[in-house]
Amino acid sequence: MPLYKTEALVLRTYKLAEADRIVVFLTRDRGKKRGVANGARRPRSRFAAALEPLTRVGVGYYEREQRDLVRLSYAETLLSPLAATRPDALAYVEYFAELLDEWAPEGDPSERLYRLGATALDALAAGVPTGALVRYFEYWLLRLQGVYPPHLACRACGSLLDAGAGAPAWLRPGADAFFCEGCAGDPGDRGGVRLSAQALRALAVWSRTSPVALDGVPPQVERELEAVHRTLLARHLEKELRSARVLRDLRR
Ligand SMILES: [Zn+2]
Repeated sequence: MPLYKTEALVLRTYKLAEADRIVVFLTRDRGKKRGVANGARRPRSRFAAALEPLTRVGVGYYEREQRDLVRLSYAETLLSPLAATRPDALAYVEYFAELLDEWAPEGDPSERLYRLGATALDALAAGVPTGALVRYFEYWLLRLQGVYPPHLACRACGSLLDAGAGAPAWLRPGADAFFCEGCAGDPGDRGGVRLSAQALRALAVWSRTSPVALDGVPPQVERELEAVHRTLLARHLEKELRSARVLRDLRR
């Protein structure tokens, strides 16, 4: 049985039997895996604190033929979310890990998804503004899955959405596209979600920025993007994540 060594992000764990844990982790090169960490719940376990959600670890594991569960040999912490410097950062850690778990297909490698998670952790450790980071993370997650509507031009008329005119765009109910003010329909029964020109500019910047270099955005922009992302996430996940509810309750 060969030992695979790689880098991974811990997504979640479950208790197993007396003293063990099942660990769900996203490897850099081999997709999402589930593995048994023997004795992980014993004091002084060799897995120690390496199994907290979103910890970046060096792991070694054995794959067994005809079995879905791998067996973890070791997990060493490379970067812990406890390195996050902002007091509210830890509230986001579980949300990021849960989103990655929801969207990462089992055993189907996506190095870009892994990199998104790993750089989000770097950004938390670097102390970037968390309000912008969480919206950035959702934006890129949805983009990598191919479900973020193009935000540079109106779907109907093709006019640039942020041509400096300062006009907003609309995500119409049920539509997977943004529309300019003129094409968004009658203002009276427009419905849908509105993105201001400022929010559209933030997206344009984020499409070419590393999360570690993120600047904060005004609270109004955070709220607009949150509304759009919640709509898109709910549409594609068909449920609301537990950690997203917790985050919202925390802010109340
Ligand atoms: Zn238009």
